[in-house]
Amino acid sequence: MKKGRLIVISGPSGVGKGTVVKGLLARDPNTWLSVSATTRAIRPSETDGVQYHFISHEQFDRMIAEGQFLEYARYVNNCYGSPLEPIEQKLAEGRDVLLEIEVQGALQIKQKRPEAITVFIAAPSFEALAARLRGRRDTDEAAIALRLETAKEEYRIAPQYDYIVVNDDIETAVADVAAILRADTLRAENHLKELSLGGN
Ligand code: 5GP
Repeated sequence: MKKGRLIVISGPSGVGKGTVVKGLLARDPNTWLSVSATTRAIRPSETDGVQYHFISHEQFDRMIAEGQFLEYARYVNNCYGSPLEPIEQKLAEGRDVLLEIEVQGALQIKQKRPEAITVFIAAPSFEALAARLRGRRDTDEAAIALRLETAKEEYRIAPQYDYIVVNDDIETAVADVAAILRADTLRAENHLKELSLGGN
């Protein structure tokens, strides 16, 4: 059976990457979103095993030692990692696997799996990003300033992604990522295998 594709989505806090991911999942039921493990505290709106597997630092360290992560990174004092086994399983079933992860993890994936498709979701401008963060009533000014600083770092790494999609309008952003994935399907090397026209 044809293996699924590994698709990495990153972008600064407040850019709306979660909404883009939801749009992609709704568009294509063959796509599966990886559930990461994290040491950060669970938020009231979250359920263990749904948004994340919430685990202790000890458990996280054990998973690293046992090679259970495809990638992992530390982000704002907490650890986040993508468990390898479920990802491999879904890829083997032919499902496309989405990883919504930060930039250090995305670079690790590109090293280990050069065939992965990496997409950075950017805001139309830095001002737009700041305005979006301020619009979230749950975040104080100090937290916003920290997120904007982190965003600057993330934008410095953005040129290393395969694609950059600007999220000005959510429908357009989802359609852009879907177009990237469709173009990948139609790449000669991928498409010929499908058509069994590979020759000799
Ligand atoms: P949050 O704590 O707001 O849910 O996520 C913080 C950041 O961690 C986001 O940029 C999110 O995409 C990223 N993240 C979530 N899971 C993983 C993961 O498994 N690996 C990496 N490298 N980053 C992750």
